[in-house]
Amino acid sequence: MINIVIFGPPGAGKGTQSDKLRERFDLVHISTGDVFRALDPESDLAKLAKSYSDKGNLVPDEITIKILENEVQKHPQANGVIYDGFPRTTAQAAALDTFLGEKSASITMALALEVEEDELRERLKKRALDSGRPDDANPEIIQNRIDVYNAQTAPVADFYKEKGKYTGIDGIGSIEDIFNRLADTIEAKV
Ligand code: AMP
Repeated sequence: MINIVIFGPPGAGKGTQSDKLRERFDLVHISTGDVFRALDPESDLAKLAKSYSDKGNLVPDEITIKILENEVQKHPQANGVIYDGFPRTTAQAAALDTFLGEKSASITMALALEVEEDELRERLKKRALDSGRPDDANPEIIQNRIDVYNAQTAPVADFYKEKGKYTGIDGIGSIEDIFNRLADTIEAKV
């Protein structure tokens, strides 16, 4: 079973590339952001998640880890999983390791899309035009998401570096070029 973490700041292209990788390698694509957005908006859980996501803050680990585990359990026959937007804290990364370990599985690799901040801001501004996401629409919230990434999520890179599982991928260029860089890296390892 292949387990790939697609890592990177908001606007780096994780969702777009994860979807293409899902197709190419016949994997299940799990995006915790998508799972939160797909919850029944009237449910307490959806309201709680939205109270964090609308401000660009992280949903607490305890909730997010349960949501992720529940999502993985839905696909017992999967060839493998792409984790998009999870883990976003080192506590989440450790929980994912434990969870996979219980299934005699592990993270195969973490691929980090590298994009500088000015470019992220531009991309998110453009995405706001058609994403309908409140957290894309406001420059202050976009900045908060980038700041939260730098403070809480960037350290997750070290978690995978220490395990020799981290590869940085240049996230600038056409969607196809970036996809080829990711796919080549995966093919070289699996
Ligand atoms: P995304 O679609 O990945 O940009 O996620 C949108 C929002 O959902 C984030 O800004 C967070 O509020 C929340 N979220 C998604 N994934 C996580 C996660 N792994 N940990 C905490 N919050 C998350």
